[in-house]
Amino acid sequence: MNWAGNVTFAAARFHRPASLPQLQRLVARSTRVRALGTGHSFSPLADTPGDLVCVAGLPRVIEVDTAGAAVTLSAGLTYAEVAVALQEAGRALPNLASLPHISVAGACATGTHGSGDAVGSLATAVSAVEMVTADGDLVTVSREADPGRFPGTVVALGALGIVTRLTLDTVPTFDIRQYVYEDLPAGQVTEHFDEIVASAYSVSLFTDWRGPRIRQAWLKRRADAPGSGTPEPRWMGGRLADGPRHPLPGLPAAACTGQLGVPGPWHERLPHFRPEFTPSAGDELQSEYLLPRAHAADALAALQPVAGRLAPVVRTSEIRTIAADDLWLSPAYQRDSVAFHFTWINDWAAVAPAVALVEERLAPLRARPHWGKLFGTSPEAMRGLYPRLDDFRRLMHRQDPAGKFRNDLLDRYFPPGG
Ligand SMILES: Cc1cc2nc3c(=O)[nH]c(=O)nc-3n(C[C@H](O)[C@H](O)[C@H](O)COP(=O)(O)OP(=O)(O)OC[C@H]3O[C@@H](n4cnc5c(N)ncnc54)[C@H](O)[C@@H]3O)c2cc1C
Repeated sequence: MNWAGNVTFAAARFHRPASLPQLQRLVARSTRVRALGTGHSFSPLADTPGDLVCVAGLPRVIEVDTAGAAVTLSAGLTYAEVAVALQEAGRALPNLASLPHISVAGACATGTHGSGDAVGSLATAVSAVEMVTADGDLVTVSREADPGRFPGTVVALGALGIVTRLTLDTVPTFDIRQYVYEDLPAGQVTEHFDEIVASAYSVSLFTDWRGPRIRQAWLKRRADAPGSGTPEPRWMGGRLADGPRHPLPGLPAAACTGQLGVPGPWHERLPHFRPEFTPSAGDELQSEYLLPRAHAADALAALQPVAGRLAPVVRTSEIRTIAADDLWLSPAYQRDSVAFHFTWINDWAAVAPAVALVEERLAPLRARPHWGKLFGTSPEAMRGLYPRLDDFRRLMHRQDPAGKFRNDLLDRYFPPGG
């Protein structure tokens, strides 16, 4: 089962190889094989009828190259594990997702992102991918040596091979001060959206669609930014929270990263959730859509009239921004983006109509769904949304002609054929 328990994997066998040769033999012999990360996706993206492989048992590697501003790591490590080693070496990653529990390979494979106008998705830090390809060979594809296929190889949905190592760009470590503002009037947010999301290194807006307000704005300011330690008590019509908060109403803030402006290292502030706690509610489903950032106000205006139909099935919604990138299947491909995320109640029958409603309202704004969450976007629509989709399909076919890394979801969106 996946983390949320909404996908029961159909795989005939589960493997956790302890060595690279063992993995290579397994892939070479298998007719249908896919990698599983930490299983935090809500879509059945990782599934296969054949062999499901977890690479977390391979020998652990974290090589921090401070001079080269890079880290090479084993693909099954979680961001929580990698972050501690980087911080000890005085290095950092530019961004993290809301939770650090996910595997690096699994997150990069789906275009997972955090928030920040100037910061790309987590996959944009990747400079090289080492993987076991369909015939069992070990291949490295790098940004520098393979500029042609590299942008198709990073956000690859597990369709090109089993990733064993990744090299990521790093930056010098930095501290963040996190503040939460409450009850921002929706009109204020629509009118000043660009100013709001530009007001900190990373900004997340939470709403439950139960009223014309943004319930919480989480501002993650670099501690070295001027004035970062002196927040205004009132801002954009909202008020500074007087204690730590959880993004889901009623849940204890102890699970969340440090707030109230107390400076802390990047990896203890950029995620919303601390590694030692179960993130979010656990009992939930999720969907998310990325749109051109310039459509943020239009998207809010498109969703507001149906807020009353969303509210009963939404636990919380999060609005974030992501810088454009050049990775073919990244939902932020060549678009500075705004993301509308929905944490739904764990009842698919009740949630499915709301997912369809959101997609209907956001389709005219060219919304791309998050590959790892639940969506119903049609294959035809997806072709129109991803200019390099056919290039990816050809890359899949070249690299895996027998289709051993395929599954139902990939067949639907990337039909077999040259
Ligand atoms: C509570 C919660 C919060 C979340 N917050 C965010 C967020 O802030 N931002 C965001 O963008 N997303 C978020 N997500 C979604 C999540 O980050 C993505 O679904 C991510 O892909 C999960 O990583 P994983 O390691 O669990 O991958 P899995 O779900 O296990 O797999 C995802 C894909 O990666 C492939 N894969 C995994 N390992 C390998 C490998 N070694 N080689 C090749 N392919 C591989 C799989 O085949 C599959 O296609 C959240 C999910 C949860 C449950």
